[in-house]
Amino acid sequence: MFNKLIAAILPFFPKKIVWIFSKSYISGETIEDAMRVSRELNNKKITVTLDVLGEFIKTLDEAEENKKEYLNLIDITYKNQIDGNFSLKPTSFGLLIDKKACYTHIRDIVVKAASYKGFIRIDMEDSPCTDDEIELFRKLKSEFPANVGLVLQAYLKRTYSDLEAMLDLNSHEIPLSYRLCKGIYVEPAAIAYKKYEEINQHYLEDLEFILKNRIHVGIATHDKPLIEGAYKLIEKYKVPKNMYEFQMLYGVTPNLRESIVNEGHNVRVYVPFGKQWFGYSTRRLKENPKMASLIIKAMFIKG
Ligand SMILES: Cc1cc2nc3c(=O)[nH]c(=O)nc-3n(C[C@H](O)[C@H](O)[C@H](O)COP(=O)(O)OP(=O)(O)OC[C@H]3O[C@@H](n4cnc5c(N)ncnc54)[C@H](O)[C@@H]3O)c2cc1C
Repeated sequence: MFNKLIAAILPFFPKKIVWIFSKSYISGETIEDAMRVSRELNNKKITVTLDVLGEFIKTLDEAEENKKEYLNLIDITYKNQIDGNFSLKPTSFGLLIDKKACYTHIRDIVVKAASYKGFIRIDMEDSPCTDDEIELFRKLKSEFPANVGLVLQAYLKRTYSDLEAMLDLNSHEIPLSYRLCKGIYVEPAAIAYKKYEEINQHYLEDLEFILKNRIHVGIATHDKPLIEGAYKLIEKYKVPKNMYEFQMLYGVTPNLRESIVNEGHNVRVYVPFGKQWFGYSTRRLKENPKMASLIIKAMFIKG
């Protein structure tokens, strides 16, 4: 009840107060905030992936604005010599309005990143977007093999067959690059595993497929048993360090993150920032008062 009350009234609180709840998970409003946090992480030998928080878009003008923001972010990141890459969500560039325009916008961003030998990761959104996001990735991957990667969600029943179907894109010279996560959206049981044990079992099956096929992977989880399972698979397949990394969200399980770094593995942290943090945080808190997890959800769910 108390949480619900807080969540209901939080949108009317001064931003400064809401920020107290959000600041552990969001690096700030501005690119400078993102650069500062990224530099701090780089100093701890942790790379970053930068993500601009966006609102649900209704027009292609907004998609154009979002593109400009990413183009600027890429320039500033490399000028600051940050060791990082970028994540984006296709719906912010018009996936649900005009697929062709969305492709053109994201292609422009990949072109910019490629000019710095950089890398763009396409975040995976909810299941109505899955086919389109895979198709988008396929198209971009054929033109920019070293500069684009995709996220796959272990909770989706289709994921193992998606992995098999995309194997044709893998090559020894320029391997595929996936981020494997559990998945954060609420999906119907007909298409998604629901139980913790089931999701974890499939996560490790997907990961094994990826590692044994020498595909580059971002092992994106804060779940200790999965991390330990990943260590075993890395050992089993003698996976070289340049073919995997662990990935975590900014502000989540920093001690576990440190232990992975201390074990000698590469770690990347997902650093979200942007002016839209307030709308996101408060809307999510209202929907579900479990604060921490909702603020994290805000980074992945549009609308
Ligand atoms: C780098 C990265 C990128 C991601 N990209 C996507 C994406 O593109 N699409 C998508 O659908 N999902 C994405 N996710 C979210 C992901 O799908 C999961 O929802 C999220 O990571 C929680 O799952 P988990 O593997 O940490 O396991 P869980 O079983 O949810 O959590 C395991 C343990 O981790 C800790 N923990 C987890 N989350 C939190 C939290 N918010 N606050 C405090 N402790 C926590 C707790 O101790 C918990 O018991 C991403 C996650 C990461 C790390």
